[in-house]
Amino acid sequence: MLRTHTCGELTISHVNQKVTLCGWVQRSRDLGGMTFVDLRDRYGITQLVFNMETQAELCNKARGLGREYVISATGIVSERSNKNPKLATGDIEITVEHFEVLNVSKTPPFTIEDNTDGGDELRMKFRYLDLRRNSLKNNMMLRHKMAFETRNYMNANGFLEIETPYLIGSTPEGARDFVVPSRMNPGEFYALPQSPQTFKQILMVAGYDRYFQIVRCFRDEDLRADRQPEFTQIDCEMSFITQEDILVIFEGLVHHLFRNVKGMEMGKFPRMSYADAMQQYGSDKPDIRFDMRFVELTDLAQNKGFKVFDEAELVVGICAKGCSEYTRKQVDELTDWVKRPQVGAAGLVYVRCNADGTFKSSVDKFYSPEELKQWAERAKAQPGDLLLILSGKTEKTRKALGDLRIEMASRLGLRDPNKFAPLWVVDFPLLEWDEEANRFFAMHHPFTAPKPEDIPLLDTDLKSVRANAYDLVINGSEIGGGSIRIHNKEMQNRMLNILGFSNEEAQKQFGFLMNAFEYGAPPHGGIAFGFDRFCAVLGGQDSIRDYIAFPKNNSGRDVMVNSPSTLHEDQLNELQIKLNLNPAK
Ligand code: ASP
Repeated sequence: MLRTHTCGELTISHVNQKVTLCGWVQRSRDLGGMTFVDLRDRYGITQLVFNMETQAELCNKARGLGREYVISATGIVSERSNKNPKLATGDIEITVEHFEVLNVSKTPPFTIEDNTDGGDELRMKFRYLDLRRNSLKNNMMLRHKMAFETRNYMNANGFLEIETPYLIGSTPEGARDFVVPSRMNPGEFYALPQSPQTFKQILMVAGYDRYFQIVRCFRDEDLRADRQPEFTQIDCEMSFITQEDILVIFEGLVHHLFRNVKGMEMGKFPRMSYADAMQQYGSDKPDIRFDMRFVELTDLAQNKGFKVFDEAELVVGICAKGCSEYTRKQVDELTDWVKRPQVGAAGLVYVRCNADGTFKSSVDKFYSPEELKQWAERAKAQPGDLLLILSGKTEKTRKALGDLRIEMASRLGLRDPNKFAPLWVVDFPLLEWDEEANRFFAMHHPFTAPKPEDIPLLDTDLKSVRANAYDLVINGSEIGGGSIRIHNKEMQNRMLNILGFSNEEAQKQFGFLMNAFEYGAPPHGGIAFGFDRFCAVLGGQDSIRDYIAFPKNNSGRDVMVNSPSTLHEDQLNELQIKLNLNPAK
């Protein structure tokens, strides 16, 4: 080894030892007769000291060191007179006897500091420099620990890690596939897996009754904020289990990760049905770090002459604690906020529950103080609170109020990143009607089984069929999701028919799976966790990008290696691909 120690480990107990350290020059300072150099590696920072009086030549050489030069320095560990309690190595410094420049560095385009001055794009382009920063380094360490502890837990519980292929066939359900041309089969394409779903089910047919994999998945979606075209899942499947078994085993995994990565003991996770989540929070991934549950006011608010409420399917509000003194301007601004197309509400009604016990609302014309008091009572509002009320079509109104609930919680500082509120959302509908496409889509995926007791509804009321499908939600983020699967050919074919596949199409696309079901498929089910987001949530940050060593930017580009990129004509010819780009575009 070129070094005897790392830059993070020397303490007072090493004083007088001769050591050699290697690392990057974080910064250097000349203070009169002394030159100090902070040497950094993955493990920390150690101060090197050069004395002009006793080592003029060496000291002058040290003054020539630039930021991010890579050096190896040998010297004696000495106790500092001026200790730095913020640094693990702050009690000591190295009185350097000689050093060697292992490599020089250009001046980096941004500072390698916790609060860097580099913008997003620049940091992505020079990702190797960004990754030197503590915050990203800590994220990578957390991610490693998460993966390592996941493997520990899964192994201890008898799961086998089995790899499934990346070059598979394209399927029409779900998101858009990334495709890869096949040179040996001109005109034919592989697709990269959106998840190993069908393979893990086939592993169940093969008898591998506890499978997991930490696996890359690929989805060619229009990039919404904080989505990555390639991302990682903890993908799991089990045979001979009920939904309850899955929830217990994987709640165990989440407990294990909180315990071993965060040092936190989590209690039993609450469970909530999809229907309740939508009704009380307007979201299938409710953030329950704070309450602010919906209060339905339809019966109280209708038939008092206020047309907007009278014509609404639902009148529903939330109580914003301590906001009764919001100014007119603040309320107007909230009104504009809910009217934005992303939220889509037509307007916002407010009721101030004044500190003196009186009420003031934007609909005073229609409602007496006594009536407003009834609303406030139902909402358990106290003097000093503000009711915010939306109305309209049920689903849309709930969704909009769900958005407003999150927005208000952010404004009120109720979304503490150091607090964790996990829950299971269960009993999802099997199907979802799509107005535009004029057909049903699978809410989870086409392999999810209907609840046995709801099977008769497949003939009569498709919208009401529920699935044994479940999501793990933490702090308003969907961290994982899965379901009990169909394991019978007829039911799978029927499901595909409902989704608009003819028998022939179903056979062509999913025949391999349905055929496998004919050879003794066990009952099975599973779950997959979004690993990048899981890491981000445990790290207390919103962005998954900073938990991925080499992420893509918002246009799906890797600006460091500059991909995607064009192919050489020879490559295209070999693949027998002729480009037909529209130059006007
Ligand atoms: N394959 C599913 C997904 O990617 C998860 C599962 O059902 O296990 O969402």
